[in-house]
Amino acid sequence: MSNDVIYLDCNATTPCDPRVVEAMLPSMTESFANPTTRNHRPGRDAATALERARATIDRLLGGRAASEVVFTAGATEANNLALIGAAEALADRGRHIISQVTEHASVLEPLAALKQRGWEITLVGVDGKGRVKLEDLEAALRDDTALVSLMLANNETGTIQPVTRASELAHARGALVHCDAAQAIGKLPVDVAALDVDLLSFSAHKFYGPKGVGALWIRHRRPPIRIASVIFGGGQESGLRSGTPNVPGAVGMARAMELAADEGEGERARVAAMRDRLEGSILGAVEESSRNGDVDNRLPNTTNLSFTEVEINALLVSLPDLAVNTGSACTSAHPEPSQVLRAMGVPAELAGSSLRLSLGRFTTEAEVDRAAARITEEVIRLRDMPTRMGRGSHRY
Ligand code: PMP
Repeated sequence: MSNDVIYLDCNATTPCDPRVVEAMLPSMTESFANPTTRNHRPGRDAATALERARATIDRLLGGRAASEVVFTAGATEANNLALIGAAEALADRGRHIISQVTEHASVLEPLAALKQRGWEITLVGVDGKGRVKLEDLEAALRDDTALVSLMLANNETGTIQPVTRASELAHARGALVHCDAAQAIGKLPVDVAALDVDLLSFSAHKFYGPKGVGALWIRHRRPPIRIASVIFGGGQESGLRSGTPNVPGAVGMARAMELAADEGEGERARVAAMRDRLEGSILGAVEESSRNGDVDNRLPNTTNLSFTEVEINALLVSLPDLAVNTGSACTSAHPEPSQVLRAMGVPAELAGSSLRLSLGRFTTEAEVDRAAARITEEVIRLRDMPTRMGRGSHRY
């Protein structure tokens, strides 16, 4: 990372890999034409670039047909299309949808909107590690359950959900399965066949691609999975996402996915080793610090730590040299204890003093050691302060 800030917020977003930028440039300067215009060569060239990107992404996800990939502006849009689109198209089967409590807002909010419109939503709880309670999910399934939506990995804790098992349960009752894989792609091998999901959402900027592009993968099968459109217009993307396609974005996302596949296990092991070193160093040096999440089932780049007797905003203010987060970046404007940690049974005080550290491809060992030293130093200093921010002060 340039300048003097150590960036440990890769679950919020990642920098574009220079190799991705390089791959995108021709589709901005040369193949810049509108890919829906097929009556001239530049248009056809742009369409070729778009379709190549679509085919690459489908292949790398383990899909069977390029047409399974619908480009969107990101995972938020893909989640909305999956949930609202499938709910509307499947209303004749039933108006019941199951998800779980630690989903991202881009799943929970469309579900809340559907509830307003008459759908019945069941949110299943999680255990102390953040894993969905499968027995509760199984018990919640009904004949009129149209859809089950389960994230692959949690943005705050990195906890990986048992998606394959949930798919098995849901399919046995005839429900479709949607998976928000926004935090998993690029950090874990993601294979739609192994997960056995019907719909999968993701965003390129979470894996060293550009912002403003993502996709909804829709399983190709007969009869086709029915999804209703939520954006109306020129009918692009098989009518599911009207609007001029973002060709550079799609090309960049495909390249980013190729790089993630190439870097593969080597990158995951290297990042996990640095994450473990960072975590071990802080937990070893700071008394009354604890780790949140599932050590055996979590993203290789993520750690989530809580410190008793520390006011988290004071800690962040005292660490201007680190880019770290208190939870999901999308909710960091709301200074409330993390709902994800609360759902896991973490006491409010600890949930309100949690730090999410998420490493990435460009993180160095020197940065990790510096970050561990700085966090340790500031937690101890804040605890030693006599009033306001220190022991015995008012917190949340
Ligand atoms: N799902 C999860 C789990 C996420 O972490 C995020 C991004 N914070 C999203 C969906 C939404 O992605 P985007 O903001 O790129 O639309």
